[in-house]
Amino acid sequence: MKNPISLLKPVRDFIFPPLCLLCNESLTEERICRSCWGSFPPADPSHAAWKNLQRIVTREGVDDLFASFLFEKEGKLKDALHLLKYSEKRSIGLMFGREIGAHIAFADALVPVPLHRRKQRERGYNQSEWISLGIAETAKIPLNTSMLVRRKDTPTQTHLDSESRWENLRDAFESCPAVNGKNVILVDDVMTTGSTIAACARALKSLGAARVCAVAAAIATCDL
Ligand SMILES: [Zn+2]
Repeated sequence: MKNPISLLKPVRDFIFPPLCLLCNESLTEERICRSCWGSFPPADPSHAAWKNLQRIVTREGVDDLFASFLFEKEGKLKDALHLLKYSEKRSIGLMFGREIGAHIAFADALVPVPLHRRKQRERGYNQSEWISLGIAETAKIPLNTSMLVRRKDTPTQTHLDSESRWENLRDAFESCPAVNGKNVILVDDVMTTGSTIAACARALKSLGAARVCAVAAAIATCDL
């Protein structure tokens, strides 16, 4: 039986038609309209930001890299990612996840970059986990939120220079023996300097992960 909320949805949508979160266009399905989604700049492995990030994280144990879009200082992509991260628009995570899921190969587990327990409690959710749910739906890869945990409650990374970010994240993450021999896809919202992804990959590989592929909604060409 459908739950009462899903039965009421058509009524609610008739009275309050859903609107695109970025341009207020009325919608039928997703929370961002096709025109806004289509305006996000696509990421490309030949772009300098991608190449640079790949060079850095490969040294740290990341075997492959994928991102759907290029994050820029201004624009609708930035707005969408901020809504996902700071305004509880979890469904945007599913949309990004489905986009990524259409482009990646099968693996044993999807592992979202974890938040520290305190931060997850404050925010109420982990945006990377919502992206992972979208990937799981499309690529049929099981989600695993226990293979990697965040031990250190690191201060926000945004205002730190690159070297301080790496230092800040040393030993911040811890994996578990279940990762041994597994082919893992590590999921982040935005990859910037690669320091978070690298710290996660080191933790996964130190307990025997066979392969770590890092994926994200976007690669940043600038700070967030
Ligand atoms: Zn729109």
